Amino acid sequence: MTLPIFLIGARGCGKTTVGHALSQLHVCQFVDTDHWLQEQAQMTVAQLVSKEGWQGFRARETEALEAVTAPARVVATGGGIILSEYNRKFMREQGVVIYLSAPVSVLVDRLEAYPKESQRPTLTGKPVREEVGEILAGREALYREAAHHVVNAAQDLDLVIAEIQTALRLARA
Ligand code: ADP
Ligand code: MG
Repeated sequence: MTLPIFLIGARGCGKTTVGHALSQLHVCQFVDTDHWLQEQAQMTVAQLVSKEGWQGFRARETEALEAVTAPARVVATGGGIILSEYNRKFMREQGVVIYLSAPVSVLVDRLEAYPKESQRPTLTGKPVREEVGEILAGREALYREAAHHVVNAAQDLDLVIAEIQTALRLARA
């Protein structure tokens, strides 16, 4: 596997978890744009957003995406990475883009089960189920537009990985 793999999808769909597992299987590097930009800025996402606004955060996200993209890497992206047409085009041209798709109920269950990992500034100030539903409805088409492959991320982790590996084999054939 030489092309970078980009994992896209909503918060809680499993980008970090799946990315980590995939990189171990393929013995390649794993990078997470959110982690990268937080380290670079020495600030959390919440701090960045309050200091620079969402616009500033999005600019840093594009910078992070470009900086981490390299052959033989699995890149987990932030949920909003697809909002930028530039980012969508960049990922499609540079690598294989996989959308980890899961219904709102699954996303909410995961976010509620592990609230710490999902501590992010609220986008709307609404209750989590409502917010996740609204955000996904607004982004679903963009995830699908950006993706080379759509994978069912509501399954057990090993099945998600197996589906991705099948998709990658097809991509190479
Ligand atoms: P993301 O990076 O897309 O926000 P994470 O990888 O952090 O998502 O996953 C969110 C939570 O859901 C984590 O606690 C993770 O352990 C759990 N999780 C991820 N994928 C699965 C899966 N296929 N089945 C069950 N739980 C999962
Ligand atoms: Mg993550």
